[in-house]
Amino acid sequence: MAIFEYAPAPETTKAAIREQYGLFIDGKWTAPRTGQYFDTVNPATEEPLARIAYAGEEDVERAVRAARKAYDKYWRKMRPADRAKYIYRIARAITERSRELAVLETMDGGKPIKESRDFDVPLSAAHFFYYAGWADKLEWAMRAGEEPKPIGVAGQIVPWNFPLLMAAWKLAPALACGNTIVLKPAETTPLTALALAQIAAEVDLPPGVLNVVTGDGGTGAALVGHEDVDKIAFTGSTEVGKAIQRSTAGTGKRLTLELGGKAAHIVFADAPMNQAIEGVVNGIYFNQGHVCCAGSRLLVEESAHEEIVVRLTDRIQTLRLGNPLDKNTDVGAINSKMQLDKIKELVGSGVDEGATLVQQSCVLPERGYFFPASFFTNVQQSHRIAREEIFGPVLSILTFRTPEEAVEKANNTPYGLSAGIWTDKGSKNMYIAQYLRAGVVWCNTFNQFDPSSPFGGYRESGFGREGGVHGLREYLAH
Ligand code: NAP
Ligand code: MG
Repeated sequence: MAIFEYAPAPETTKAAIREQYGLFIDGKWTAPRTGQYFDTVNPATEEPLARIAYAGEEDVERAVRAARKAYDKYWRKMRPADRAKYIYRIARAITERSRELAVLETMDGGKPIKESRDFDVPLSAAHFFYYAGWADKLEWAMRAGEEPKPIGVAGQIVPWNFPLLMAAWKLAPALACGNTIVLKPAETTPLTALALAQIAAEVDLPPGVLNVVTGDGGTGAALVGHEDVDKIAFTGSTEVGKAIQRSTAGTGKRLTLELGGKAAHIVFADAPMNQAIEGVVNGIYFNQGHVCCAGSRLLVEESAHEEIVVRLTDRIQTLRLGNPLDKNTDVGAINSKMQLDKIKELVGSGVDEGATLVQQSCVLPERGYFFPASFFTNVQQSHRIAREEIFGPVLSILTFRTPEEAVEKANNTPYGLSAGIWTDKGSKNMYIAQYLRAGVVWCNTFNQFDPSSPFGGYRESGFGREGGVHGLREYLAH
């Protein structure tokens, strides 16, 4: 129990939120042809923040037409070094408005301000800076003799867990390669995508190069189904990803899918234990566990199991849950009521199936969607909590006795996005890493990201890469 309590330290909320947002099409704010609007709420207070336009098929059509015109008229023809200047300007505008963007992201989505301030926003800017540098060097991403060519109009669909960052991951390489874009943010977190549209207007990005259509899954489906879209880049659930793959099959559209995960986080008994515990905590409680690559299956060497459970039990008591705008908050709000219900249902299934639940003891705020940092022991491989993505602050702990068993259990999942290994022995790290079927393997660290480093999965975690030169190629014709 802490002797001293932190005084509240909330960030001021003078983020410029408009009462109502239209769609951003052809460089202008426009009313939706559907005539419909919906509210985006602050999940920490359940209060509406703004009214958001609902884009239907006709609006998607207008956005795609604007993107096509901009592609043919300016963007594909522009000197690559000039394209780079626009992307640099977007990057600088993000850094200039970093505080406002962090507040918007936290209010709209529920993540702690320290995360949006220190992770989401700076990394988003870094992606624009990085890909701006590539715009006039694209031939270096090609095989000898190949000429770099854009694909055309890209439809980009992003989820609610990293709204600005996922948009940045998609926009920056697409723009650098000369494509134009229709971006569809998630229904619960449209505000930072709309702020990006404002930034695009402020930096004089030619009209139609970036269009933002807000709405729900229906809006996304209309974008996927539009025949003049040349490429779909989707980040979201495996279920929707599969539906998109089915509907784009045979159409000639290029497709990348960044889907779900159920990452194995392996801790050997010889691991540097203080660091490993912090890695585990970061791996699952970062962003309330709303992380596709979250280390949600902890595999611990049997001889260290007891020690790790004791340490984790203590450690989660020190996490501060509450107002996401407070600079001291570690665990913010769950993104939506729907997601909270999903987490509760899966946690209930874990208890019913016989696993043992340990939770931080804290008083949950009266309003808003919150769930305490939790973990399960006595988990069987067959339990739903060991197989299904919970996408919340809930860890499942399993054990292993040999490195081979660790690998076998780690790979016993339909997903393949990320994995982590903690051991004091470098050779063991390398040995295990080569057998893990995951797009990213972190050794003695977790959740490390850099724009130059590719990220993506395989099997049910999707295909295609974002980041680095690999991410660039996804936006070049071949
Ligand atoms: P989701 O339901 O699949 O939604 C993702 C996006 O797709 C949202 O913008 C959503 O719109 C839209 N959408 C929904 N139905 C659609 C349809 N039929 N056609 C086209 N678009 C449609 O996923 P989520 O629950 O929001 O996000 C969480 C998932 O994303 C998790 O599984 C997580 O692992 C995954 N994720 C993966 C990565 C990665 O890089 N691999 C990164 C982050 C998250 P609405 O929200 O407006 O309905
Ligand atoms: Mg919201």
